[in-house]
Amino acid sequence: MPTDIEISRAAALLPIAEVAAKLDIPPLAVEPYGHHKAKVAVDALPKRDATGKLILVTAINPTPAGEGKTTTSVGLADALSRSGRRTALCLREPSLGPCFGTKGGAAGGGYAQVVPMEDINLHFTGDFHAITSAHNLLAAMIDNHIYWGNALGLDVRRVSWRRVLDMNDRALRDIVHSLGGATNGYPRESGFDITVASEVMAILCLASDLADLEARLGRIIVGYTADRRAVTARDLNAAGAMAALLAQAVKPNLVQTLEGTPAFVHGGPFANIAHGCNSVIATRTALDLADYVVTEAGFGADLGAEKFFDIKCRMAELAPDAVVIVATVRALKMNGGVAKSDLAAPDVAAVHRGGANLMRHLENLAQFGVPAVVAINRFASDTEEEIAAVRAIAAAQACQAVVCTHFSDGGAGAGELAEAVAALADSGSARFMPLYDDRLSLFDKINTVAKRIYRAEEAVADASVLAQLRRWEADGFGDLPVCMAKTQYSFSTDPTRLGAPSGHVVHVREVRLAAGAGFVVAICGEIMTMPGLPRVPAAEGIRVNAAGQIDGLS
Ligand code: ADP
Ligand code: MG
Repeated sequence: MPTDIEISRAAALLPIAEVAAKLDIPPLAVEPYGHHKAKVAVDALPKRDATGKLILVTAINPTPAGEGKTTTSVGLADALSRSGRRTALCLREPSLGPCFGTKGGAAGGGYAQVVPMEDINLHFTGDFHAITSAHNLLAAMIDNHIYWGNALGLDVRRVSWRRVLDMNDRALRDIVHSLGGATNGYPRESGFDITVASEVMAILCLASDLADLEARLGRIIVGYTADRRAVTARDLNAAGAMAALLAQAVKPNLVQTLEGTPAFVHGGPFANIAHGCNSVIATRTALDLADYVVTEAGFGADLGAEKFFDIKCRMAELAPDAVVIVATVRALKMNGGVAKSDLAAPDVAAVHRGGANLMRHLENLAQFGVPAVVAINRFASDTEEEIAAVRAIAAAQACQAVVCTHFSDGGAGAGELAEAVAALADSGSARFMPLYDDRLSLFDKINTVAKRIYRAEEAVADASVLAQLRRWEADGFGDLPVCMAKTQYSFSTDPTRLGAPSGHVVHVREVRLAAGAGFVVAICGEIMTMPGLPRVPAAEGIRVNAAGQIDGLS
């Protein structure tokens, strides 16, 4: 089979106006960026009332290679389109960090890709640069405020707003800046995070429109005074200029799949310290324009689906109609205790053992009231016996499991999945409800997720963490949802405990308030907000060839 980039390069792309026309987007609302990308001016769309069916694609706990949520989302959307259903896809934008690091691009794979993949993976329409600039403008205004006399009384030891860059660069994790004398300001410790970890990214993805974006930016807490009063971006008069930098970025990007299905690729918040799904504006726009909207949430269902439901759907008042849970034979084997190096060897018993992981996720999804179907993303090495084992596991949960081969066959390989999903979504059987009530205390919310989703004995936290949560409740932040940050490999906080562990303890090491985004982050385990590059980064294999095409992206 040809490589991802060879497949993508060989595709005949429709002019972007034709893609827009499939959803009846009026030409005036289409702002082309070249021939195959556009921003959609949402304000210029006729008013409709989001009647499309919302379908979430999530997954079991994965192997480090990823289990195919993006490729399955693309394949499913293409299959729904092929069946004559008016469909749109909503995905996140890739970050340059993983692109040049270990994981590679994030535009799908095989015959299930969004295109033009090199553009989408590299710079795209500049949204991440705009977010980087808006974030760093606030950082510059903070240090400038301190330099010119610090009228707000910010405690330089308590400035929490760092700087960002869309790159994996461990050298910048912890820095001391403003060295070099009085004209350079007051030296202090700080550091850089990757842009996708910026609160500005989470805000862009949760904002309902430009006005809401500016209001949320204003609520960002940048640090505290010596007597522990919060200082916000609004106090620094920064929110207006930040919103101005984001005015174009906030418009959803329109591209297409290899088969010409319209795809909104917009926003890309981290799936650990943020909620890990594409923008609310793109999802709402897609629901207005299409009858079926397929979207993906980051990581496994314990993290991604929970946050999609409890943060995004709660805030944006979205009601998902169906869930697709992607399972692969290799990830089930890994959850069944097989070493990464042995995953290619057939092992039905291991699939059955690992099936406990899939069953747990299915039980969890039922708690949100949304019906689910299992998509078995078929790999060339899977045997019939292993596939049959996955079907049996799903059947034990009264759930349909469908084999799909979109990676090698495009939308034609996901036809059965499309029919199963459409039947579920059309059945009207979804009764979506978030897991917990807004009014529960912040720690009770964390504990609820730990017990009901992770099946932990309990969540525990040091007295200082509990006191911090109580202070935020007293300051009026008690109604916010919690954003759990833990390993994606296990239901527990230990990445080596695969399968379906229970009775473990979830230790909340640290909590952070994202007042602008509107959630409280609970950090359980080691979370890296500025990744490093591996020994041999993907960047070493990427270049522009003699024909002016980019080689080496996957
Ligand atoms: P996720 O969104 O869950 O992280 P992706 O859809 O990005 O996963 O897939 C992860 C990687 O696995 C990609 O490189 C993709 O091309 C590859 N992949 C996905 N499905 C298959 C398959 N059925 N066969 C071979 N490779 C696949
Ligand atoms: Mg993905």
